[in-house]
Amino acid sequence: MNSNLAQRMWRELQAALNMIANALLDDLAGVLSPRLLISNAAETASTDGKLWVRLPEEFCGVRLGERMQIFMGLLVHEIGHWLQPLDQVQEVEKKTDLDHAVVNILLDIHLEALVVRIFPLFAAPLAAVRELVGQKMRKEYEKGYKGAASFLEAANAALLYGRFCVDTDWSFGVPRSLMTRKRTQNKDVDEDELKHFLKAASDIVLFPSVQLPEVMAQVAKDFPELCVKRPSIPFLNPLDGLSSGGDCLPGV
Ligand SMILES: [Zn+2]
Repeated sequence: MNSNLAQRMWRELQAALNMIANALLDDLAGVLSPRLLISNAAETASTDGKLWVRLPEEFCGVRLGERMQIFMGLLVHEIGHWLQPLDQVQEVEKKTDLDHAVVNILLDIHLEALVVRIFPLFAAPLAAVRELVGQKMRKEYEKGYKGAASFLEAANAALLYGRFCVDTDWSFGVPRSLMTRKRTQNKDVDEDELKHFLKAASDIVLFPSVQLPEVMAQVAKDFPELCVKRPSIPFLNPLDGLSSGGDCLPGV
């Protein structure tokens, strides 16, 4: 991309980001003004929840400027995280060892439902992103579920399948077919336990943001198999900011 075009694109997207922040953050938008960063090294969008939002130059094979709706969806998603008490959720994560990748997907499910309640026009760009990811990743998630060697791995794959491959009009759908179809079934997984967990994941949209730390603590208590002391390895979640890694910008 030549530098004039890149500059024009940045201004256009920064203006879109300001509009999204105004629509979603209400009074706070005057105090918090997100700065847009564009990275050619990152594979995904991310944010620190208070100062910046970062977009990749390419997302799931779509280059910046090609399908504006996809990048609008990513901006909306990231600003959605600004509505969540991320520091407190992180505290719970540290205290309980609840897997970071799982926490991140639960936050994503929650915010994408919340954002649409506040501003229904943002439903379409969010759904477009989910559909794109589903088209690209469905097979990987199926493989990941079938080959999962632990409850945590199976839960992670099932969550992602439920986000991107069930009904992309919604931020999450319980992936029943994944668990029951012969081709994708994983006989080693405790199916009742997994169903119980996926129900909790789907119910997270019922809670206001302020209750998220409490909800995460409950998930950790109910599903100790999801709490493990090890560095998190996000399993192919294109909307997990940390999966881009390597540039010292933590994010969600
Ligand atoms: Zn996210």
